[in-house]
Amino acid sequence: MSVAQSVRLPQRVGAWIDGQPRPGTGEELPIVNPALGRPVSVLTESDAGQVEVAVGAARAAFERGPWPRWSVERRQAVLRDIQARLLAHAEELAWLECQNTGIVLRELRQRHLPRAAANFGFFADYIGQSAEHVYRQTPGYVSTVMREPAGVAALISPWNAPVALSSMQIASAIAFGATCVIKPSEQSPLAVQRMVELMHEAGLPPGVVNVVNGRGPVTGQALVAHPDVRRVCFTGGTETGRRIMEVAASHLAPCTLELGGKSANIVFASANLERALDGALLGIFSNNGQQCLAGSRILVQRSVFDDFAARFVERARRLRIGDPMDAATELGPLASQAQLQRVLRYAELAREDGGSVLTGGAALPSLGPGFYAAPTVVLALDNACRVAQDEIFGPFATLLPFDRVDDALAIANASRYGLVSYVWSDHLPTVTAMTEGLRTGVVWVNTPMMRELRAPFGGFKDSGVGRQGGAACEAFFTEEKVVTWPTTPPALRRLGAGP
Ligand code: NDP
Repeated sequence: MSVAQSVRLPQRVGAWIDGQPRPGTGEELPIVNPALGRPVSVLTESDAGQVEVAVGAARAAFERGPWPRWSVERRQAVLRDIQARLLAHAEELAWLECQNTGIVLRELRQRHLPRAAANFGFFADYIGQSAEHVYRQTPGYVSTVMREPAGVAALISPWNAPVALSSMQIASAIAFGATCVIKPSEQSPLAVQRMVELMHEAGLPPGVVNVVNGRGPVTGQALVAHPDVRRVCFTGGTETGRRIMEVAASHLAPCTLELGGKSANIVFASANLERALDGALLGIFSNNGQQCLAGSRILVQRSVFDDFAARFVERARRLRIGDPMDAATELGPLASQAQLQRVLRYAELAREDGGSVLTGGAALPSLGPGFYAAPTVVLALDNACRVAQDEIFGPFATLLPFDRVDDALAIANASRYGLVSYVWSDHLPTVTAMTEGLRTGVVWVNTPMMRELRAPFGGFKDSGVGRQGGAACEAFFTEEKVVTWPTTPPALRRLGAGP
């Protein structure tokens, strides 16, 4: 029996609070399948009252529940069980995720689900090795620096990789003993809800992970504004991140913000151009082009520009577009009608700004009522154009030529964003100059996206605040506490004991 036959779509998605599913309390919203262009289920939103209940459950689980008090071994066992269950249910979760994101099923199975499971395994391993500090430099004293879980965390994630992104947030928060309330995107709650159910089947105590669903300005805003929330971990757009930080400031909750990007994929004539071409195509067209770390500005050295651009366009035209459930599909639909309109609008803006559309720039109604756009490649007049500056978040590549290393650096860095960059060259001095000069949180050399979980991930400038990764998450989801004591009784001035 195929997964499609054995998995049922829930008719309604509500909240998950204190270890139990709960009906939502607010408006009903459609959950749309982007490949079909029509609703397939209904989400009942959590209003502010239900957010209050969810935060209350997380607070009770933190203050009185077993999770923060369990030994590391016991928490590790649950995290590893979650990892195993996510792998065992990978087909089902991938199928659910596909229903409300349109991400190609093969990519979900091969990349998103293994990564989601690995997030739990990674943090299980990490907490088994992490150490606290002792200072003994001051004679006669020992000061220990201990880390304690920070409390209730609000975890907010977008629709472009719901399970992969929210699993990272959840694993990194709960591994260190925090409890949380998550708010996935209202467009894509299906697989996240099932993942949370599986986490409870793995023995996670009630109240450690709670889910509220709904729109950002309603449910998300109420969550971030709650005074019992001690940490806010947000992945999403830059403007939303700015608003979230303002709201969190009202009760001084620290934030990490993983935000947007307009990342430069820089191809030098000294590169293995075949590999650079493969990497550039993967960088912009995987995940239906909707990924924060997309290499969406492709800078190519002028001496090889014409040849590279022609081959890039040719390959983009040959991408197999269609049903994301089909094993042969390379590019699925965009996640929503709004995303489709946005991508098409940028093809017009490319022309208005003096650029040319080399391929694409149109919807594909021949594929049915889903939100399909043709892979789009534009040649921009210069880096100031909107297609070179704005995050478009779709299968939309902007090509720009450059002459020398200095030009490449100047163009790449002339962006409000600074998430990642890609450098393709086999010439060591070129690679060195680029890796030293690029103002981005990650630089990938001669490889497309390779996420090293141990290393910090995050952006410069408008691409984010803070980092994700082993040590960075430990620092974020814990509070430091210093305990000092003398090794021998110190001499004390005896106030009030004088003659
Ligand atoms: P949004 O910022 O619109 O939404 C992200 C999440 O925030 C959603 O759950 C949304 O809810 C919620 N939200 C919106 N407004 C508020 C608010 N006022 N208070 C609290 N929560 C709110 O981003 P998109 O969903 O459009 O996602 C795309 C963006 O995410 C892109 O810019 C992309 O670059 C970025 N991203 C960054 C990554 C990184 O690691 N740096 C990784 C992946 C994506 P709802 O949608 O339900 O309204």
